[in-house]
Amino acid sequence: MSYKILTIDILKAYILEIDTIHSYLEDGEIKVEEIGDGNLNFVYIVTNIDTQKSLIVKQAVPYLRIAGEGFPLSRERMSYEIRALQFYGELVPNLVPKIYHADEEMSLIIMENLSEHIIMRKGLIETVKYPKFAEDISTFLAQTLFYSSSLYLESSKKRQLIDRFNSNVELCKLTEDFVFTLAFMDDETNEINPQLKEEAKALFDENEFKKNLLQLKYIFMTQSDALLHGDLHTGSIMLNQKETYVIDPEFAFVGAFGFDIGALIANMINAYISHFYRSEDAEYQAWVLESIREIWNGFERKFLALWSEHPNSALLKEGFIAPKELDEFKATFMTNIFQQTVGFAGAKIARRVFGIAGVEDIRGIEDKEKRKEAELMALSIGKDLILNYKHINTVDELIENIRMTDVRKI
Ligand code: ADP
Ligand code: MG
Repeated sequence: MSYKILTIDILKAYILEIDTIHSYLEDGEIKVEEIGDGNLNFVYIVTNIDTQKSLIVKQAVPYLRIAGEGFPLSRERMSYEIRALQFYGELVPNLVPKIYHADEEMSLIIMENLSEHIIMRKGLIETVKYPKFAEDISTFLAQTLFYSSSLYLESSKKRQLIDRFNSNVELCKLTEDFVFTLAFMDDETNEINPQLKEEAKALFDENEFKKNLLQLKYIFMTQSDALLHGDLHTGSIMLNQKETYVIDPEFAFVGAFGFDIGALIANMINAYISHFYRSEDAEYQAWVLESIREIWNGFERKFLALWSEHPNSALLKEGFIAPKELDEFKATFMTNIFQQTVGFAGAKIARRVFGIAGVEDIRGIEDKEKRKEAELMALSIGKDLILNYKHINTVDELIENIRMTDVRKI
């Protein structure tokens, strides 16, 4: 079918023409609801009222959903989401929703309805602990980053992978603009808390950390280590006590190792900050910080284990270097990924303070005074991580740094 924007009627007709979907849903009365709460696309839940079978249909339209038709954005972004979900589906099938049907021409995907899972950001706001999360997400990161990198792939395969993803230029440009640039200068897209006008002006005039921000942006634009999700925040994770699922990889491209991990850690840090002002639950905050430690440590351990299992790749040939020196090389390699992770985390935290699309954890704090304090703390931590990313070498140091940002000093 050539591209058509779905209406409820078109959607019903469309899905019933696909045999596998028809037989999955079975005969009965079909109900369709639009449930999208995201910024970009339309998401429908389709339920057979009689059998209670359900699935999700997600379609990209040729504009940005929150901004409307006046903000065009090519719908081809869905092709990258489909391709990334297919790649993940092969590698970590328990960590992404099952795909029932994908149609790049219609810019849509039909997938498993995660009806027993919630968006992680909501759970974090409610101080819910997720015992499996760090284990699951570190597996996701280690597997997806390792198996799409030149530490595993042959050069030709790696270049094919790049070809499949790297025309996702519009979404990469959104990140270049909104994460690395506009949130740090006067721009009409910013959403500055009126109580923090002075602080915003002061930040925009501070230039030292901008040198590091430019380094990080340059790494983002040019480094092609591995297939990234590209937008791995806690709104792109659905989970419960037992299972974790990653959704929404429409920003997928082949980029720098530290970017997804940095995005995730940034969101965990935002949750940590928010609870000084939301729940004031120090024990929960300790759980959040501990999760950051487990995410990094789990990622590093699993990534290195995969690397040992696969001693031949585009980069390495067995026998090329002695084991001791290889271990040293790997240790430095991991430290570099960690530093980059810290830098990206800093950029992701700081950009949410004055930039477009702040995070609910912090912007949603109702008490204006508390929200202001939380934003200042996020700014302080974000800026500190950007300034010092090359000197924070371990996750223990990172956590110590975050802990030392004493609320009363801000
Ligand atoms: P966008 O690309 O617009 O950000 P998302 O993929 O984040 O869209 O989806 C928007 C919302 O739809 C999610 O926050 C979630 O509530 C819901 N959603 C998306 N995919 C699923 C799914 N497979 N199962 C259940 N709900 C989903
Ligand atoms: Mg989303």
